[in-house]
Amino acid sequence: METRENTETDSSSQWCAWHQGHTFTARLVRDPADQGSGAGAPSLYACGPCRYAYDLVPLGEQS
Ligand SMILES: [Zn+2]
Repeated sequence: METRENTETDSSSQWCAWHQGHTFTARLVRDPADQGSGAGAPSLYACGPCRYAYDLVPLGEQS
């Protein structure tokens, strides 16, 4: 059973895979580097600024 405390993260923060840091504005996005592999493609969290900068589309908002 995991008992150690992690003071660097909490339930409301996520790890942004683009700027490699914690963020409170993360949304789950599909990894654009893995397009074409079909189902099972990894998805990563990206924060608001990174989604804007890299033109990432959050999962669930794609048309
Ligand atoms: Zn970011």
